Amino acid sequence: MTTPRKSIRIEVDENLCQGIGYCERTCPSVFGVNKEKLMAVVKIPVVDDPALIEHVELAEQTCPTRAILLTKLGDG
Ligand code: SF4
Repeated sequence: MTTPRKSIRIEVDENLCQGIGYCERTCPSVFGVNKEKLMAVVKIPVVDDPALIEHVELAEQTCPTRAILLTKLGDG
């Protein structure tokens, strides 16, 4: 029997993001910044690794414009 894992979907609101890049500094494996568009890029849209989820949640909390949207997809 496998243990169900929580997973989250990650999106960035293009109207709110200003390309400041805190998310990239906090969690570079998931977030990047398109320097021309000054817009965050989500490299991995769905994450289920618990350590990575922690970093993504920290990035969401520290985004100055609250542009990162996280949706819990539930267990399994
Ligand atoms: S920290 Fe927020 S505003 Fe800055 S690039 Fe990331 S999503 Fe955009």
